[in-house]
Amino acid sequence: MSVVPLTEIQLAAERIRPAVLRTALEPSPGLSRLAGVPVHLKMEHRQRIGAFKLRGATNAVLSLASGTRGVVAASTGNHGRALAFAARQAGLTCTICLSRLVPANKIAAIEALGARVHVRGAGQDDAQREADRLAADEGLIGVPPFDHPAIVAGQGTIGLEIVEDLPDVETVIVPLSGGGLIAGVAAAVKALSPRARIVGVSMERGAAMAKSLEAGRPIEVEERPTLADSLGGGIGLANRWTFEAAKRLVDEVLLVTESEIAAGIRHIYREEREVVEGAAAVGVSAILSGRVRPRGPTVVILTGRNIDPALHLRILNGADALEVAV
Ligand SMILES: *Cc1c(COP(=O)(O)O)cnc(C)c1O
Repeated sequence: MSVVPLTEIQLAAERIRPAVLRTALEPSPGLSRLAGVPVHLKMEHRQRIGAFKLRGATNAVLSLASGTRGVVAASTGNHGRALAFAARQAGLTCTICLSRLVPANKIAAIEALGARVHVRGAGQDDAQREADRLAADEGLIGVPPFDHPAIVAGQGTIGLEIVEDLPDVETVIVPLSGGGLIAGVAAAVKALSPRARIVGVSMERGAAMAKSLEAGRPIEVEERPTLADSLGGGIGLANRWTFEAAKRLVDEVLLVTESEIAAGIRHIYREEREVVEGAAAVGVSAILSGRVRPRGPTVVILTGRNIDPALHLRILNGADALEVAV
């Protein structure tokens, strides 16, 4: 039940096709040399709005009942930006609730898309409570950032494209937070290519899904500032979809440090000439640090590019990772 069927993901692909880019899968000679297997990068940071979250948000908005007036969501930034974009396309009002940990560049981008922004509290949980309150008080429809079948199916369309472009894929390395992305990608990839292994990567500072999988149930972890700000927040104690899906479909979860994330961002800029945010770099960080030993043709998903430019510059200049994170 918890695994979204392949047919739902294929329907989502049809639904969102006019609104999202089909991103490139590009070989990385440098990472292939380092890893000893062919490594390809899924360039999802080049997606419209600068992150893959447009896929899930668009699929969710296009699946809403007619008569919906407006949508509301809590977000670490990219889901809010994606939902604001999708809602505007559909002519719906949009309210995004954010915590004070969300970087200013992401807040400004959401406002620029015409959404109403509420900044509340010191973490994702406070932002979620505000979103729940607005849904109840104003009759808005909540569109959660990950724990919803329409979101999972939308993100899963990335998995369809990966297998289409690289049918013999054996390892897919996926940045992991609430697990909407990994649940969708794993469902699609494993349905089409059952031999493939799915590896999730989170940051050591607040790895909610990793700790929950260890505990055997959704648990809370302290939310702390990190370079991978888009991976912050819990998975929800009442998680209905992504925890079970991750438990069933994810083969390995590993954690990277802040300085490994900084090294990943630097490597991706210098060697691949791509600008990515911390959350998007963790797969490359895991290869560079030797924490993952990929088997066979491998795909690393680069998930987003919405990093504050001044922070990006400081990281390129070798600023100490802890100094930039806090
Ligand atoms: C949301 C996000 C992730 C993690 O996705 P989940 O579905 O929450 O696991 C990874 N990278 C970026 C850039 C994101 O915005």
